[in-house]
Amino acid sequence: MSNLDHPPHVNPYWAGFTGSCPRCGKGKMFNGLLRIADKCDACGLDYSFADTGDGPAIFVMMIAGFLIVGVAAWVEIVYQPPYWVHAAIFLPFSAAVCIGMLRPTKGLLVALQYYNRAEEGRRIK
Ligand SMILES: [Zn+2]
Repeated sequence: MSNLDHPPHVNPYWAGFTGSCPRCGKGKMFNGLLRIADKCDACGLDYSFADTGDGPAIFVMMIAGFLIVGVAAWVEIVYQPPYWVHAAIFLPFSAAVCIGMLRPTKGLLVALQYYNRAEEGRRIK
C-alpha cells in the first residue's frame, strides 16, 4: 500500500457490504462466495494484505446467535410448538442468516483493514 492511496475516497462500509474494492469501489473483492480475489479487476489492488482470520465468523456467530435464539425463544413462549417445528424452522433459518451475513461481514473487515492500514506492527526507521 502506498501513501498515495490514503485516505481512499470509497466509503469502507459501503465497499465492504457490497463486496467492492475498498480503493476504487468498482472492482470486485470476492472471487466466489467467500474467497478473496487475488487483486481488484478494475484498479489492480493486491488483496494479499487481507487477512481477516476468524473475525467474520465471530461477529456472525454473536449477532446471528442473539437473533436466532431470541426468535426461537419468542416462538417457544408464544406458540409452544413441538421440537420438530423448531428444527424445521430454525435450522434452515440459522443457515440462511449465517451464510447471508458472512460475505458482507468479511468484506467489511477487509475494507476496514485497508482503510485503517491495519497490519502487523513494525519499527519506524
Ligand atoms: Zn479496485
